[in-house]
Amino acid sequence: MLDSDSKKWLAGLFGDGVKFDEPMSRHTSLRVGGPAEAYVTIKRPEDLVKLINWSREKGLPCLVFGDGTNLLVKDEGINGIVITLTRAFKKIIQTSTEKDDVIVTAMAGVRMQTLCRFAVERGLEGMNFALGIPGTVGGGIMMNAGTACGSMENVIDSINVLLPTGLTKKIKRKDMVFDYRKLSWGKKKNEAGGLEGKPIILEGCFCLHPSDPQRLKKEAKAILKLRKKTQPAGSPTAGCFFKNPSAGKTAGELIELAGLKGEQKGGAKVSCKHANFIINTGKASTADILALMELVQERVLKIFSIDLKAEVKVVGT
Ligand SMILES: Cc1cc2nc3c(=O)[nH]c(=O)nc-3n(C[C@H](O)[C@H](O)[C@H](O)COP(=O)(O)OP(=O)(O)OC[C@H]3O[C@@H](n4cnc5c(N)ncnc54)[C@H](O)[C@@H]3O)c2cc1C
Repeated sequence: MLDSDSKKWLAGLFGDGVKFDEPMSRHTSLRVGGPAEAYVTIKRPEDLVKLINWSREKGLPCLVFGDGTNLLVKDEGINGIVITLTRAFKKIIQTSTEKDDVIVTAMAGVRMQTLCRFAVERGLEGMNFALGIPGTVGGGIMMNAGTACGSMENVIDSINVLLPTGLTKKIKRKDMVFDYRKLSWGKKKNEAGGLEGKPIILEGCFCLHPSDPQRLKKEAKAILKLRKKTQPAGSPTAGCFFKNPSAGKTAGELIELAGLKGEQKGGAKVSCKHANFIINTGKASTADILALMELVQERVLKIFSIDLKAEVKVVGT
């Protein structure tokens, strides 16, 4: 719980960059979610370090938000401080060229689509798998975002993080533990220097390769066209709601075969276009979405004995 002194401190440092009791429905692609006690837009990178040091001393929880495209925030909201880096952390540069490798460094708040365009325009191969994936570089790395064509783990060379201690650290690819739609600071964390707590990704360095810009552009066009054809556009969603099982049918196929297309709970609905998308038809609450999620899981478990796991992360109190 933020006391009045804490609110004063935050307002003093961030001015109009801090909002109290900010509805998270304004910041999630599903357009649901109760209020965050404080929602802080970092305007200068150095302020992030001040905030992390202060919140650690105060024992206040912090949660970094990217674009909220993979987050389901509970109706009760979020205790503590939600931080967004999309304003201050948005530089992207080509940092070095070694033989056939080109390193592109993108800060955590850069949109994935900006990074994809940056690469295509310079004739750099490697990022096209991410075309059409919304969100930020920070969120994309944390989620190991990807498609059947590849994922972040295939292109990451290293990342720079801010540790909960307030110190920064470079972590090489070999010390990162990527999984399906997940980066964890797992077993190797001690080898990487004791990453206790949750590091904040400040920037990612991507290893790309020079290629034919015309070919990349043509490929990009085809990928975007296919996404448009197969995915619901225009409605609030968080993309694929469930992870695909490791073998056999995809989550979408299982949900469709279970006869759940168009199934509804309150304002939440299983998309008729792509069964692994849950859409907010307009007035859904997070409770509606969670109820629909459980219904889908129960039905798929009953029919196929497969326990679908949510890809979307549920956060909040
Ligand atoms: C229409 C649609 C289509 C989608 N298609 C795909 C797809 O094809 N493939 C796919 O993989 N995903 C897809 N997604 C899901 C989502 O876009 C990705 O997971 C995306 O990478 C999330 O990025 P974000 O910035 O929105 O992260 P958020 O949803 O804001 O956050 C995700 C997680 O990352 C953490 N995080 C964010 N930034 C940082 C940081 N700087 N440091 C530390 N932690 C951080 C958050 O705390 C949270 O745990 C889709 C979503 C939508 C709405």
